[in-house]
Amino acid sequence: MAGFSIGVDLGGTNLRVAAVTPRGERLDHISQPTRLHAGPYAVLDDMVAAIHTILDRRRNAELSGIGVGSPGPLELPAGILHHPPNLPGFDGLRLREELESRLGGCVSIDSDANLAAYGECLLGAGRAFGAESLCMLTLGTGVGSGMVLEGRIWHGMQGAAGESGHGPLDPNGPPCPCGARGCLEMYASATAIVRRAGQLGVGSAEGNGAAVPLTASCVAQLANSGDARALQVFDEMGRALGLSLSNLINALDLPLYVVGGGAAAAWPLFAPRMFATVREMSYVYRLSMPDDPAVYQPGRTHITPAQLSDAGLLGAALLPLHAHDGARA
Ligand SMILES: [Zn+2]
Repeated sequence: MAGFSIGVDLGGTNLRVAAVTPRGERLDHISQPTRLHAGPYAVLDDMVAAIHTILDRRRNAELSGIGVGSPGPLELPAGILHHPPNLPGFDGLRLREELESRLGGCVSIDSDANLAAYGECLLGAGRAFGAESLCMLTLGTGVGSGMVLEGRIWHGMQGAAGESGHGPLDPNGPPCPCGARGCLEMYASATAIVRRAGQLGVGSAEGNGAAVPLTASCVAQLANSGDARALQVFDEMGRALGLSLSNLINALDLPLYVVGGGAAAAWPLFAPRMFATVREMSYVYRLSMPDDPAVYQPGRTHITPAQLSDAGLLGAALLPLHAHDGARA
């Protein structure tokens, strides 16, 4: 059997483990609920058991390494979790040490948002656009972000780089769990879509905020059917994304910005306002925008939807193969 590496995506909802070839082809996959209620050590036991199950199934193939993606904040390179909002009870967990002692070898660890950017760079939009550098925003329950610069994840001094989801856009905006106000996450996450839809009375007959449980995809369905208030939610989301991207483009001047995560499925609803805002607010973008945002032009600044549905898991699997030399798949 051909060589492989193992990627782990430790999510607040699901724990996923996959065996992947160096070219990013998935060979095996285990997915199970993350038993948050049972505590971090039970989740670690589940993770190690799933890894051993995959190793047993592929015992004739050579293992190249194990990479793990975790929600942040994650202190790197130590691999210690600090009050991760999506993993309650995991504060202070020395994830790298705990895994390495259980598995008896080295484990590569990074944040889920960094690994999504890494996976997209190596196997998704980055490969399609021929870009070795990109910034990715992941729109999920919160807004994560990661940067890959010339094939390497940019971590910053303490592993905290890429917190663009908490870049403030309005000092008078809604309070954010990070302690600031009006962060991108307050406008562009799935949570924000649902909250804003509730404020505008989306789904209620008279716009009176009746208690109809909504999800972000419900709001998108209503917007697609022409509901004016639902359309306003995505228009505001596009404005917020455009402002954040303008800051990123002006600061970084990268060839590629990728928008992924579950809430990015609403791309057709928020992208028009997002592009209009970037054209209005970023002179760097105006200098370098492509003739058609959907068509790749070398030397231009591109903003594009993510191409992979499991970039974080694939990025985790590829991390031990490329983390030290910045090579491309
Ligand atoms: Zn924030």
